[in-house]
Amino acid sequence: MSEPSSSPRISFYKGREIPLELHKVRIVQKLHLRPVERRLEAIGEAGFNTFLLTTRDIFLDMLTDSGTNAMSDQQLGSMMVADDAYAGSASFTRMQQAIADVFGMQHVLPVHQGRAAENIISQTFVEEGDVVPMNYHFTTTKAHIDVNGGKILEIFTDEALKIKSDCPFKGNLDLDKLHATIAEYGVDRIPYVRMEASTNLIGGQPFSMENMREVRRITAEHGIMLVLDVSLVGENAWFVKQREPGYADIPIREILRELASLCDVMYFSSRKVSSTRGGAIATNRIDLFNKMKDLVPLYEGFLTYGGMSVREIEAMAVGLYETTDETVISQSPSFIRHLVEELDGAGVPVITPPGGLGCHVDAKGFLPHVPQSEYPAGALAAAFFIASGVRGMERGTISSVRDENGDDILADMELLRLAMPRRVFTLSQVSYVSDRLQWLYDNRSLIGGLRFVDEPKVLRFFLGRLEPIGDWPKRLAEKFRKDFGESL
Ligand SMILES: *Cc1c(COP(=O)(O)O)cnc(C)c1O
Repeated sequence: MSEPSSSPRISFYKGREIPLELHKVRIVQKLHLRPVERRLEAIGEAGFNTFLLTTRDIFLDMLTDSGTNAMSDQQLGSMMVADDAYAGSASFTRMQQAIADVFGMQHVLPVHQGRAAENIISQTFVEEGDVVPMNYHFTTTKAHIDVNGGKILEIFTDEALKIKSDCPFKGNLDLDKLHATIAEYGVDRIPYVRMEASTNLIGGQPFSMENMREVRRITAEHGIMLVLDVSLVGENAWFVKQREPGYADIPIREILRELASLCDVMYFSSRKVSSTRGGAIATNRIDLFNKMKDLVPLYEGFLTYGGMSVREIEAMAVGLYETTDETVISQSPSFIRHLVEELDGAGVPVITPPGGLGCHVDAKGFLPHVPQSEYPAGALAAAFFIASGVRGMERGTISSVRDENGDDILADMELLRLAMPRRVFTLSQVSYVSDRLQWLYDNRSLIGGLRFVDEPKVLRFFLGRLEPIGDWPKRLAEKFRKDFGESL
């Protein structure tokens, strides 16, 4: 394994900030930018749900970073030397070693993806009536805790849900609320506290090392287990280095080690690390490992592959080492920052400070004339696709659920998430995103709401179909053609 290079500090003439790529492109994939007429048709065929678009109609796919990061030559090369074996594969040994080297964790359980780790952890530790406090939930995390009769408690700070903020660590857990929660429910009803690195659903916002240390101190005092979701930990570590006093000169690998040393159990989705399937649970506590391990052969596969192919296991191991390379881990946050600052400067409402994962556009601020009952984030995602061919993801009320009376539970925030998978896009493509979003903002009064025509009972955002209220998509496309005369 080659040593990760340390990141040179690059400055530019006259204090400009250019997020310089420290990699080169060696394999490319042709993209298609369809004319606006086709984009309008395509979003109609997709029931105004960007999940139902197909990539032949998409120019830039910013739906998610899950399984879409660019792979390195080292990762692809490693997949060719994988060791095929049902049991005892050398590929698994390499992955175990990577987890030990990067996180200092000795006991590893392989799983087929992140939610499979959540299934095993929740089944093992959560009982009927339990509560699991956390800084913020992720969709699959909540679902698995619910299924096992538990309930999640989100105890984020007041800053977490503010769109505009200077708070460097909006992903922090509120420590006063943690004390109060422990006092209210008692340690017996709290199987573990969960911390999520770079909180996915509130804008990829990190927590600080100081906060993690305090959470560790409080949970240890009460003998409560601490679980860390490290799916997006590289970016969180990067923000600690950038934003937390005392960490500027500490290498990412040491920050990752310190973060991991503060939890009892960690798990991750390898879809975010190496763009393959897979994931793992890791711990230094043999008692916890033994409690969980029997579920791996039951749900995943033998203990040395856990539902993954050996090729994926190799790519994951290399991906973990690359997470400690600052030139790799800084790429997505620096592009996101570039986009967020440009949009913010142009008056387009976006979440600040910039996080990891993607740029999050505030649909409530963008479309104040669209009531939440008409799904402004979903409408904005559809409108932006028409205007650009760029696919983002709705993270608002469509991603929420209905209450027992059948009424929508309105989401805390209405966001259009534009994910920035690692090393996939160029800076000129990011500039295109900014250009089209600024045009859309100037024409925002043309955008109307959506309503469901076909609504699945569970996880409706994946497969639900909607229709526009009025003929706004057509009028938006007409205005676009008038302004740009685009026909490609
Ligand atoms: C993606 C993700 C998961 C779930 O992982 P899958 O591989 O999609 O099942 C869990 N937690 C976080 C923070 C994630 O980003």
